[in-house]
Parts: sequence; C-alpha cells; structure tokens
Amino acid sequence: MLRFHNTLSNKLEEFRPLRDNEVKAYICGPTVWNFAHIGNFRTFTFGDILARYLRFKGYDLTYVMNLTDVDDRIINESHKAGKSIDEFVQPYIIAFWEDMAALGNNRPDIAPRATEHIKEMIDIISTLLANGKAYESDGSIYFRISAFPEYGKLSKISFSGNEAGGSGRVDTDKYEKEDARDFAVWKLVDRSDPAGWEAPFGYGRPGWHIECSAMSMKYLGETFDIHAGGVDLQFPHHENEIAQSEGATGKLFAKYWLHGEFLKIDNEKMAKSLGNDYTLRDIISRGFSPLAIRYLLISVPYGKQLNFTFEGLKGAESTVGRLQQFRRLVREAKTEPGSDTEVAQLVAKALAEFEAAMDDDLNTSVALAAIHNLVRETNSVLAKDALRADDRESVLDAVARFDSVLGIFGKEQAELLDAEVEALIDERQEARRNRNFARSDEIRDLLAQRGIVLEDTKDGVRWKRK
Ligand code: AMP
Ligand code: ZN
Repeated sequence: MLRFHNTLSNKLEEFRPLRDNEVKAYICGPTVWNFAHIGNFRTFTFGDILARYLRFKGYDLTYVMNLTDVDDRIINESHKAGKSIDEFVQPYIIAFWEDMAALGNNRPDIAPRATEHIKEMIDIISTLLANGKAYESDGSIYFRISAFPEYGKLSKISFSGNEAGGSGRVDTDKYEKEDARDFAVWKLVDRSDPAGWEAPFGYGRPGWHIECSAMSMKYLGETFDIHAGGVDLQFPHHENEIAQSEGATGKLFAKYWLHGEFLKIDNEKMAKSLGNDYTLRDIISRGFSPLAIRYLLISVPYGKQLNFTFEGLKGAESTVGRLQQFRRLVREAKTEPGSDTEVAQLVAKALAEFEAAMDDDLNTSVALAAIHNLVRETNSVLAKDALRADDRESVLDAVARFDSVLGIFGKEQAELLDAEVEALIDERQEARRNRNFARSDEIRDLLAQRGIVLEDTKDGVRWKRK
C-alpha cells in the first residue's frame, strides 16, 4: 500500500487517486532567471522519483511542471541585459532541460510557461473579483484573505486580526491593502513597461502564486491528486495557491501535498541568495558524474534534510561505479544453465523490500539498502562461480526494475567509466588479499578485454587505457 506524508493533514496517508487508476500531479518548477542549483535539483529529482514510482505502481500518470518565466528577478535581469524577457529566459530554459536530462530526470508530460497562460490567470482573477474574494486597490488586485476562512490550513500558520503572523515573510509595507496578510494576484504596471499584459482590470502582470493555480488547474482539472514542491514553498506560495484556487472554484484544489526538504551545505540552506550554491555544471566541471549527483540527492528520503559535502559525493561516485560494475559482472559471468533457489529467493526478497520502502512515503534510502544487499549477496555467489543462467536473468531484471524508478545504474556502456575501473581494481586487490587468485585473474582479464592495462607498482596499482 502506497503511503505519502500529506502536509495538508500532517499525516502519513494511504494514497488513493481521485479517479480510478488516473493520477494527476503537479510540481512547482524553476524560475528560469539563472542556472538552477543542485538544491533546486534535489526537489526536481524528488518529483521525478515520485512520477517514476507512480508509473511503476501501474498508475496512469499525468505529470506537470511549470516554468516561471516572469517575475521581478527576470524583469530586472533582462532589463540589465537589454533583452526581452523571452530572449533572456530562453538560454536558461534550454540549460534547465539539459541539466534535467543529464541527471536522468524524465521530462514531465507537460511543462507550461507562465507567460503563455496569462489568459487563464486573468479568468481566475475575474472570478475572484466577482465573488468578493479579491479587490482592487490603487490599480492592483489583491486576494482578500478575510473572505477565505480556511487560510492557513496547509502551513498551519495562524493569524490573528491584521497581524502579519510571526513569520516575517508577509509584506507589511503595502499600505494600500485592506489587510496586511492580503497578497497581490495582479500588479499594476506602467503602460510603457513591456513586461505587462492587458486585462479587464488594467494593464499589469500576474503575481507569482496565481501562475501555479492557473497552470495546474488548466492541465489537471479543478481538483487533482498531488501537488509537490520544495518545503520553502509551503508558505506563502502553496497556501496562496489554495486560497486562490479554492476561492475561485469552491472545490478542493489538491488532495495530497508533498514537500521536499532542503539540500543544505555547511548546515545552511543552499540558495543563490546566500552565495553557497553549486550548479550542476559547477559540479560536473570538478570531474563528478551526474549519476553520482543523482545518487547523492536520493540517498536520503525527500522528507529529510540532506547536507551536501564533496566527501559524500566522492562516496556516491564510487558507489555508482560499483553498481555498474556489478551489473556488468552479472551480465558477463560464465554460468551453467538452470536456477538456484537461494538466488531466486534473494531476488524476490530484494524486490519486496524495495517496493515496501518506496511504498513508505518514497523511502529511497531503505530502497537503496535493499539493492545493496542484493548486490552483496549476489557478489558472493559470483565469487564462487555459482551464478546460474536463469538467475542471471532474474538479477538483471530486478536491476532494471529498480532502475526504472531510481535511475542510478546509468546506461550500459561499452567503455568502462573511470569509477568502474577503480572499483574493479579495488575488488581485485581485495580478492588477492583473500588469496582468491581465480577471481583476481578474472578481473584482470575483464579489464584487459576493455582495453585497461594494469601496472602493479610499489605505491599500488596504476592503470591506463590502451
Ligand atoms: P525556484 O527556481 O527558486 O523557484 O526554486 C525551484 C524549486 O527548488 C522550488 O521547489 C524550491 O522549493 C526548490 N529549492 C530551492 N532551494 C532548495 C534547496 N536548497 N534544497 C531543496 N530544494 C530547494
Ligand atoms: Zn508553484
């Protein structure tokens, strides 16, 4: 039984789609004003794992991720660069999808851009104005929180009177608002400003929150199954999305709310504004593989914070090398026909543990442990040259099934990666220490077949490509 921690109820809940086998899911996407950092990618990789696992469970999923291509940062930066918004964001959109692909994140089924959905935003705002849940002040339109008594139900932040709550994140400087908590859904801008759109209530541009209400409901319906995003979006962004959407439709907006915890560095949130961020490109240019980064990002369940270190990344690099090496060794092992009940049981156990872990609110770290157990146990069968042909197939099938969700084994390549070579060399050293010379020769031969030459020196083993 698949269960999620639903922020709305603050409980672990059984997942039941609204309609039969269909699942409609939305995740808040990037603001495309710069290269996304690996903290952002922790959240988008969580979204990818969520989507892949829903498909693994057999659901018919529609997965939407928006692109925020208009906001104050984009407007300021494009202005500084002397470019139109569109010219300015285009390279970052391209870079975003390149980075997503490098990290093994599948493209969402639909990736709408905010600037292409202004009409849908205007429609929601018009409804809110008509039903009294929004008002005009000095040319801008604000959501009237006092008209939506459920405000705060997601973030559990309680407000009293006109106070801005204890959070300090509510604008209090907008004197033209009826209530300090109210937020802009449409901002008046000067007609000379190209970053504006015509609306029945005046030339302006949308507030950030209305974008997600409009794009999610357009593609997934007024009520949909899952809304996800980073934990920092819970308040005010998601709270405001709920207020606008439910305020306009009178219906439940999203049934399950899932929030990904932060990637931290030196125990601070990774953020561009703090200057402690690394983009994917920064990390790749230091010689790490995107696969290792993916492994690191999912090594801790999405609901727990993860502290980034280069030490941890090095560990992930050698782990993915070992996983790839394992798959190759299984593929290339000399086998007798038939099957062995012990191996068949190991595979069945690993698959069951993997699924139980993922069912438990996508517990990727326990799922990874199930894979590592299978690898370790199968390696000892391999070391005895005891893997049978049918078991080889079932181990490889299990690996493919795990990887359809986690995507950490990478593509099978003709050429060994450096990390794989190093993992094989370590394994050969280990075999020699254990006086298992048959195994150490086997590894040397395997490396030789792949064009890797070993040289035993007094400082250890050196290797090069032929
Ligand atoms: P932005 O491009 O700023 O709108 O952020 C895109 C996504 O990244 C949002 O879902 C944020 O919650 C998420 N995010 C930002 N910083 C981090 C971080 N350090 N760790 C995890 N997710 C983050
Ligand atoms: Zn959003």
